[in-house]
Amino acid sequence: MSISLENKTRSFTKDEAGVFVSYVEKALSLMLSMDYIDPSIRNGDAEISVDVRLVGSDAIKKLNSRYRQKDKVTDVLSFPILDMNDGKLQGQLMPYDFSYDDGKKLLPIGDVVICPERARKQAEEYGHSMEREMVFLAVHSLLHLFGFDHENGKSEDLMFSKQEEIMTGIGLPKSSDADIRSSEESEEDEHPVGEMLPHCGYCALVGRPNVGKSTLLNTISGMKLAIVSHKPQTTRNNIQAIYNKDDAQVIFVDTPGIHKPQSKLAEFMVDSSFRAAKGADVVVLMADGRFPKPANVEIRAAEMAKKLKKPIILAVNKADAVTKESLLPLIANYSKIADFVDIVPISALKDDGVDELMDVIISKLPSAPRYFPIEEVTDQSEREISAELIREQILHYTNEEIPHGTAVEIDAFEEVLKDDAEDSYDRSLIKIHASIICERDSHKSILLGKNGQMIKRIGTAARENIEKMTDCKVFLDLHVKVRKDWKNRQVFLDEFGYKKKED
Ligand code: GDP
Ligand code: MG
Repeated sequence: MSISLENKTRSFTKDEAGVFVSYVEKALSLMLSMDYIDPSIRNGDAEISVDVRLVGSDAIKKLNSRYRQKDKVTDVLSFPILDMNDGKLQGQLMPYDFSYDDGKKLLPIGDVVICPERARKQAEEYGHSMEREMVFLAVHSLLHLFGFDHENGKSEDLMFSKQEEIMTGIGLPKSSDADIRSSEESEEDEHPVGEMLPHCGYCALVGRPNVGKSTLLNTISGMKLAIVSHKPQTTRNNIQAIYNKDDAQVIFVDTPGIHKPQSKLAEFMVDSSFRAAKGADVVVLMADGRFPKPANVEIRAAEMAKKLKKPIILAVNKADAVTKESLLPLIANYSKIADFVDIVPISALKDDGVDELMDVIISKLPSAPRYFPIEEVTDQSEREISAELIREQILHYTNEEIPHGTAVEIDAFEEVLKDDAEDSYDRSLIKIHASIICERDSHKSILLGKNGQMIKRIGTAARENIEKMTDCKVFLDLHVKVRKDWKNRQVFLDEFGYKKKED
């Protein structure tokens, strides 16, 4: 049995996640020992596997809208893979039901998506612990994966009694003040644009190339964004990421890549960050923890913030690469160039100190109406555009023989920088590994074509278009995979589908 947890949120700590997973493991193994679960599920030589993903309210709202036509934030969504009804398999397990990981044979039963932010609220409402709420939602969802349901009335009681039995069995019994509810229907109001928030505003993130700005934004967004599109800019071109919480929204503004000689760097950086900072409520100056003295670039950025009368926060990045002691002279030196409202050592890469930095940023933002819809996380990424360009060629070359049965998943999007790169836009090569996912073996053979001719054609055409889009040489590696019922699994794709709204 294996539970793989991917925490895509900032509202659930690593410690909480550890405890959560151990409870979910206990619950699953307890369920598997129950006689209501089809013996053929547990008796085989494969390990049962479940993917659990924790996402923010924006992501779950989007999924809920897409898969359940409910345009609301919800607490949990379940995506079963096997066809089961009240614990019984409807039909035989087929070879394609199994997958292999490092030689281990797995039987994936489905995906669970939970929104901890929402769960935390519910825990408060029901007066029990966050721990119990999260595990309750997971157990509820696992029962769905095994084919139990509560929406058709039929097995509703069965489902709820099983649920409590399991919760009690793993040591999280119902507290005295009973929480009777149908978990998935306890949906909340959305967070409309215009809603007054105690903290909402723009944050200009300034710092020299390679200091780690993109890494920080990726970490904050809880996902790998690749690099925000370099394509012709819209009015919102310098919005890099939007961070949403129930009671706060932070809009990060950055400036597009600076392709200028080193000597002009300071001027440029200040010039472009000046524009970003002018409209911002708070400025974050990012310094590299490995260099104790501010250079001209940083000094001028600090002066700029002062001139604009903006609160300025110092984020000392790459703290993982240096000792704590060596940060002291840096902090002393930087303190001379500005009156920082706070100094926060972080590792954008290791996700250390980022929560603290977010708290400081949020505390400096004024009360304001929510500016952007909650699902707007960032501009469309190159990664997503690449998937679309591949999909386009599939449709083109297969003449719609397999129009709706395929999806494209980007497995890896790796940028190789030039040797003399000045910033992360100076790439020499982009390596992309992508999977074309289809539902049937017959589709797979169409996609591969005779001697692999078809996939080759699709790959070549898609690669050329991706090269145009990224203005960079691209290596594209395509694989065709048959995945029964991928449409349910597409949940994972959609999470990356941060499409830009039309202006
Ligand atoms: P940007 O030009 O400011 O956007 O910088 P990037 O985010 O592209 O980062 C530049 C390089 O610094 C990349 O190789 C990152 O992996 C690395 N980097 C970013 N943050 C950290 C960090 O916290 N620690 C370490 N050791 N490296 C980091
Ligand atoms: Mg960058």
